[in-house]
Amino acid sequence: MKKFKFFPSFSKNLDKSLTNLYFNRETPKWIFTAIILFYILVSFFLTKAARSHNVITLFGSTVPVSTFAGVFSSLANICIIFLVVFFRKTGLITALAILLLQFPILIFQFIANHNSASISGLFSNLLTVIACIIICVNKSVIEKYQGKFRYQAVTDSLTGLPNRFACKEFMRVFIKSGVDFAIVSIDLNNFKNINDIMGHEIGDKVLIEIAARWKALADSKQTQTGDFVARLGGDEFALVIMAFQDTNDIIDTINSYKEELEKPITIDDCDYFMSACFGCAQFPSDAHNVDALFSCADAALHEIKRQNSSNSILHFSSDLLKTEQNLEIERKIRAALNNDMILCYLQPQYDASHNLRGFEALARLQDTDGSFISPVEFIPVAEKADLIDLVDIQVFKKAAAFLKDILKTSEKDIIMSINVSVRHLMKNSFIAEIKNVINTSGIPANHFEIEITESIMIDSAEKALGRINEIKKMGMKIAIDDFGTGYSSLSYLNKIPADSLKIDKSFIDAMNSSDSSKQYVASIISIGHVLNFKVISEGVEMPEQLETLQNAGCDYIQGYYWGRPMPLEEAAKLI
Ligand code: C2E
Ligand code: CA
Ligand code: CA
Repeated sequence: MKKFKFFPSFSKNLDKSLTNLYFNRETPKWIFTAIILFYILVSFFLTKAARSHNVITLFGSTVPVSTFAGVFSSLANICIIFLVVFFRKTGLITALAILLLQFPILIFQFIANHNSASISGLFSNLLTVIACIIICVNKSVIEKYQGKFRYQAVTDSLTGLPNRFACKEFMRVFIKSGVDFAIVSIDLNNFKNINDIMGHEIGDKVLIEIAARWKALADSKQTQTGDFVARLGGDEFALVIMAFQDTNDIIDTINSYKEELEKPITIDDCDYFMSACFGCAQFPSDAHNVDALFSCADAALHEIKRQNSSNSILHFSSDLLKTEQNLEIERKIRAALNNDMILCYLQPQYDASHNLRGFEALARLQDTDGSFISPVEFIPVAEKADLIDLVDIQVFKKAAAFLKDILKTSEKDIIMSINVSVRHLMKNSFIAEIKNVINTSGIPANHFEIEITESIMIDSAEKALGRINEIKKMGMKIAIDDFGTGYSSLSYLNKIPADSLKIDKSFIDAMNSSDSSKQYVASIISIGHVLNFKVISEGVEMPEQLETLQNAGCDYIQGYYWGRPMPLEEAAKLI
C-alpha cells in the first residue's frame, strides 16, 4: 500500500495546506538563476560599453559605443524588477543587496576615476530601489486581499473547516499522486429537529462545536491515521482518512470521530446529544474519481440511514449501487402510482393467418425525461416494494377501459391478456380486486385472460391452484406465461385449468440457430394440443420463425414481426 506522504504537515497544519492549495503557483527556481545570470551578463556589457571610446556605424550614421551603456543599464533594471515581481521577499532582498552594494563602487569610481557616468548610475540605482519598494508594498496589499478571497473560496464560513470545494480539490490532488485514502460521508441524525425547535442560532452553535471538536481531534493526531474534516453544507460533513494499514484502521478512526460527536454538547446551559451516520468509500478500490467516490460514500450513507439500525457505519459495496438505483426506481413507481401514470401499452396477438386475436397489456413507466424504464427493471422492484398489485390493477383498469370503448364500436371478439405477479395473485384481496375492475367495466369476463408464470406451481401449488380455479369460475381465461423457462412438469400442467400456453421467447430465439430447437418447439406445441391448450408463441421477430411456427400448428403469434407493444390510441387504430 502506498503510504501517505503527501503534504507531510497535512493533519498538523490544515490551515497551511488550505492556503497552499491556492498559493501553489510559485515561479520555478530556475527562472531566478536565469535572471541573475542575465543580470551579470548585461552588467558586464554595461561596464564594457561605458568605458569604450570606439564608434560603430548604425543605419549609415556613426554612433559611439558608450551610448549603449544606457540600453544595458535599462535591461539590468528590468532584471531587478522581475526579481521583485516574481520572487516577492527573496526577490526584494536580492535586488536591494545588488543595488545597495553598487553604491560604494559607483561613488569610488566617481572619486578615483572621475567617471561622470557613475553619477547617472547612482541616480538610476536609487530610483530602482524606490521602484522595487513601491512594487513590493503594492503587491503585498493586493495579495492580502487575494488571499482573503481565496480563503473564503475554500473555507466554510460558519465553522472555518474546508468546504466542499476544498475537500474535492484535496481529493483530486491525492488521486493524482496515487495516495490511498478513504472518504466518509457524514450526516447528522435529527439535526433538523434542533433547528426547528431551538432555532437556527442554536443549530449553528451546535455545528460550530461539532466542527471544533473534530478539527481538534484531527489536529491532535490521536487517531492512528492522517485525517481531516470538511463541511459539505447543512448538517453534512466529510472525513478524509489517509495513512491507514487496512479497513480496521479506517473504522477505528471513524469510531473516534463518532465518540467525539456523541459527548454531550452544552449550549446556553442546555445539553444536546448528537449522533450521525457514516458511509465510507475508498480510493482506489471503490472508485477512481472524486464524484464517483462521493457517490459510493453517499450510497453507503443512505443505506445505513435506511436500515435505521443501531449500527451507524457502513463501508461501500457494489451491491449498494443496485440498492440505490432500486430505491430511485421505487420512488418513481410510487410517484407514477399516485398520479395514475403507470401506462398501459398493448401488443397485438394474431392467429396463424394474421387475424387479430387480442392484446397483451404491458405496464410502462415513464421517466422524467420522457424515456421508458423497462418493466424488466421496475416490475421486480415493484414486487419487492409490495407495490406490484397496485401496478397490475392500474394496468388492468386502463386495459379494461380501452376494451370497453372498443367493444362499443367493434364487433370483434377481442381478448385482453393481463399479467399478474405471483405475489399479487397470492394476496387475499386479489379476487375481489379483479372482480371489481370487471364489474366496473361491464365487459363479460371471458374477454379477459390472466397470464400467470409457471413458477407459481413451485412456490405454493395448493393455494395457487385454488386461486386459479376461482378466476376460472369467474369466466376469465388462463394462460401459462414464459412456458419452458421454469419447472415445467406435465403432472402440474394437467392440473392447471389453463386455456393456453405461451412459449417463452428464448425458445423462439433458439430456433434460428438449430434444427433441434425447431423440433423442441414443435414438440411443445404438440404436447400443448394433447393437453387441450391453445399455444401462443412469444417474441416472433422473423418471417422464418413465423413460417416454422405456422407449419408446426402454433395457434397464436405475438412478436415484433407482426406488432410491437403500442400506446392505446395506436391499438385503437389497428382494430
Ligand atoms: P412477458 O409477460 O413475457 O411479456 C412479453 C415481453 O416480451 C414484453 O416485454 C414484450 O414487449 C416483449 N416482446 C414481445 N415480442 C417481442 C419480440 O418480438 N422481440 C422482443 N425482443 N421482445 C418482445 P416488456 O413489455 O418489456 O415486459 C417484460 C416483462 O415485464 C413481461 O414479460 C412481464 O413479465 C412483466 N410485465 C409487464 N407488464 C406487467 C404488468 O402489468 N404486471 C406484471 N405483473 N408484470 C408485467
Ligand atoms: Ca406476459
Ligand atoms: Ca412471457
